[in-house]
Amino acid sequence: MAKITKKIKTIKVDADKCNGCRTCEIVCSAYHSTPEYCTVNPAASRIHIVTRRLRDIWLPVFAGEYTPAECNGRDKYIIDGKEYDECTFCRATCPSRDLFKDPDSGLPLKCDMCEGLDRPLCVEWCLNEVLIYEEREEEVDEEVLLDEMETGLEALMEKFGRDKVESAMNRMSRNG
Ligand code: SF4
Ligand code: SF4
Repeated sequence: MAKITKKIKTIKVDADKCNGCRTCEIVCSAYHSTPEYCTVNPAASRIHIVTRRLRDIWLPVFAGEYTPAECNGRDKYIIDGKEYDECTFCRATCPSRDLFKDPDSGLPLKCDMCEGLDRPLCVEWCLNEVLIYEEREEEVDEEVLLDEMETGLEALMEKFGRDKVESAMNRMSRNG
């Protein structure tokens, strides 16, 4: 089976340094608007700052995978004496909340690490150095990558219909 090199990109979050300025949400939504930088709408951002002022919580969370089903078992965390609400650390776009859904189309949003740029914009613009970008390379089977892509597209089409997904992809490719 053919092997290909996959670049793994990570953003480490040093949450204690976050002051909730939300600059990351602004630049993310601006970069992903169509055309690029034409609008700013934090609701369309692929990073969300969970803000609980009374509990001294400012926590950056990145949009992850889309899932058509919500889960019934939920986790709550207490870290350093601070209690985090259910689903706080979850990155999924799921039916039980509005987070990480495009405000116009309702389509799920996912962090793409600012595909096309050398470094993610949220990392560049976070002046408090909360977000730390790292890259590494890994060898994977080509077939595994194609399978992952097909599974994701099938799930989206099942939920939103082929036309909506195709028009979103056309819009993204014009933008990119
Ligand atoms: S830009 Fe940095 S400090 Fe500001 S909200 Fe985002 S992660 Fe927190
Ligand atoms: S890496 Fe890019 S796409 Fe992901 S949250 Fe940051 S600005 Fe948005």
